[in-house]
Amino acid sequence: MVEFLSLKRVNAPHEGAIQAAVARVVQSGWYILGEETYAFEQEFATYCGAKHCIGVGNGLDALSLILRGFDIGAGDEVIVPSNTFVATWLAVTYVGAQPVPVDPDARTYNIDPQKIEAAITPRTKAIIAVHLYGQPAEMTAIQAIARRHGLTVIEDAAQAHGAQHAGKRAGSLGDAAAFSFYPGKNLGALGDGGAITTDDDALAARLRKLRNYGSSVKYQHDELGVNSRLDELQAAVLRAKLPFLDAENDARRAVAQQYMDALAGAPIELPFVPQGVDPVWHLFVVRTAARDTLIQGLKAHGIGHMIHYPIACHAQPAYADQVWPALPVAEALQHEVLSLPIAPYLSAQDVQAVTDAVRASLS
Ligand SMILES: *Cc1c(COP(=O)(O)O)cnc(C)c1O
Repeated sequence: MVEFLSLKRVNAPHEGAIQAAVARVVQSGWYILGEETYAFEQEFATYCGAKHCIGVGNGLDALSLILRGFDIGAGDEVIVPSNTFVATWLAVTYVGAQPVPVDPDARTYNIDPQKIEAAITPRTKAIIAVHLYGQPAEMTAIQAIARRHGLTVIEDAAQAHGAQHAGKRAGSLGDAAAFSFYPGKNLGALGDGGAITTDDDALAARLRKLRNYGSSVKYQHDELGVNSRLDELQAAVLRAKLPFLDAENDARRAVAQQYMDALAGAPIELPFVPQGVDPVWHLFVVRTAARDTLIQGLKAHGIGHMIHYPIACHAQPAYADQVWPALPVAEALQHEVLSLPIAPYLSAQDVQAVTDAVRASLS
């Protein structure tokens, strides 16, 4: 028996520190936009190698607030990966802009830089680079394209806290980055939470207002803002966990390496990690045309699994009102990818139980 993911086991090593953090906030009598949030913002900005961090309510709001901060809206187009969680697309839709999907590289599952230029039009304002499954997108190529066409580069780093590209961390690889602290992410809160990182002083100042009713002076509203703030309790919990993120990401790397070694040569496609990229393994995704057989086998062995994602964004009922371009890679992936259990707490025996079950299922 190996569960796909136990959040209880993820948080167990932090239980004492979390309880102390919660007690501190309860006793402070201050629950929104206070010391814990501002301290976490500083600590997370430093961690990412960014100048500013703005705590917000969730990852989706982080993305849509960044778009608003860059004045992207009606009439504008934003390039998005076809293979991503729906939030990447929804943020673009929410601000009134048009998501323009680009298919992924069939090996990395991240947006294929070679297909981006064909999707650029005079209306294109930005590219959202998603570091999917915890692996940074090909930022060097994406940045070069963006510079040639005068586009903004936004990172969706919701699955990539701590991941590195050419020695720099996610959150410092574009003009601004969106993070989620949804409980299942590599750095997870005990509820919803999110953050934006950027080096842009003016953007940061504007986002601090936009997240708080468009206000920096109480009851004076300069812009039509929203209510999307990381709260003091979640910030305190995240502060307790952040110092251990690197060690937990290392534990995930060890699990991923064991999977790679034990499944080498198995009739299954393993993740491909290009040179210069250091993923944090939010998910460990394998690919096979015999996915149903693999699922039956895993079930028989008591091994948890998930599919990320079973329906591509353009194939979602919510997006059925539009005609989308052909996206053959995303269409194939939705039927063939499968995520194996990965978490910092997994033992070598757990991982071996998974790899034995995978091999037995496909033999
Ligand atoms: C989780 C996630 C989001 C959204 O984060 P929430 O905090 O759930 O709103 C956005 N993009 C990606 C790639 C994600 O995995």
